[in-house]
Amino acid sequence: MVQIEANAKINLTLDILGVRPDGYHEVEMVMQSVGLFDTIRVVRRQSGIDLQMDAPSLPTDETNLAWKAARLFLDVYKIQAGVAIEIEKRIPIAAGLAGGSTDAAGVLMGMNRLFEKGLSAQELCALGEKLGSDVPFCIEGGTMLATGRGEILRRLPDLPQLFVVLAKPPISVSTAWAYKTYDQVGVARHPDTKAMLAALDEGNVEKIAGGLANVLEEVTMKAHAVVGDYKRALSENGALASLMSGSGPTVFALAQTRPDAERAAAAISARYPEAKVFVVSTAGQNII
Ligand code: ATP
Repeated sequence: MVQIEANAKINLTLDILGVRPDGYHEVEMVMQSVGLFDTIRVVRRQSGIDLQMDAPSLPTDETNLAWKAARLFLDVYKIQAGVAIEIEKRIPIAAGLAGGSTDAAGVLMGMNRLFEKGLSAQELCALGEKLGSDVPFCIEGGTMLATGRGEILRRLPDLPQLFVVLAKPPISVSTAWAYKTYDQVGVARHPDTKAMLAALDEGNVEKIAGGLANVLEEVTMKAHAVVGDYKRALSENGALASLMSGSGPTVFALAQTRPDAERAAAAISARYPEAKVFVVSTAGQNII
C-alpha cells in the first residue's frame, strides 16, 4: 500500500493574458501549495479500478479525475494489473483549491511508487497535463510560476514561513463560468507578477502580502458578495492580506504567526458559522 498526502493550492497571483487560438486562456499565476490535503491510498489488485471516496456528492466512476489518472497510468505503462484507490477528502469541492487536480496528481505519484516505475516529476507532469492544466503543479508542489494553460512551470523560492487561513463560503463556483464572465466583462486590476517574483526573491513578506491579486476575484465577487464579506472579516482580524483563490469562492488570508491566523479564523467562524475554515501552513516541494 502506498499513501500520499495530496495538498491543496492557492494562487498568490492569477492573471489572464488572453485567449489562445485553441480556446484555452493564457494565464500567468504564482501558485502555492498549502497543508490542507486529501489522503490517498493505492493498493494493487488483480484488474480494474476501484475508487472509494468519502464525498457523497462526487461520482466514483470514470468521470472522477482520480479514476481518470489511474486509467491513464495503467494504459500508458501497459500494466497488467489493477488498482484500488481510497481517498479521504478534506479539500472542499469546486472551491478554487484544485481538489480534483491534486487527487489526480496524488494517484499518479502513488502509482509511480506502487508499480516501482521510477518516473521523474517531469515524466509524471507530462502525464498529468493530459488530465488538467493544474495537475502538473500539484505534482511538483511548493511555490511556482505557472504560464501557458498553467502547465508550464518555473520553480520559485519557497515562501517565507507563513500561516494561511482558508475560508470557504457555502457556495460553489464553476471555473468555466468565471473565465467566461471574465471574457465578457474584463476587470480593472491585474496583478503585477514581476513585482511578486521580486518580492519572493527577496523573501519580503510585506511585499508578498501587498502583491496578492487575482483577476477572477472581481468577477466572482460581483456575483457573490459573500467573497468580499469574508475578505473584510479576515483582514480586520489579524491577517496580513486576503485574496480569493482560483475562481473561488474560497478566500485565503496570510498571517505571520499561528495565533494571528487562529484569531482571523475564529473571527470568521463567529461571524459566518456556515463557513468551512482551516488554518494551515504553506507547503514545500513534493518528494516524488
Ligand atoms: P480548480 O481550482 O482547479 O479550478 P476547484 O478546486 O475549483 O479546482 P475541484 O474541487 O477540483 O474544483 O472540482 C471541480 C469539479 O471537478 C467538481 O465539481 C467535480 O465535479 C469534479 N471532480 C472530478 N473528480 C474530482 C475529485 N477527485 N475531487 C474533486 N472534484 C472532482
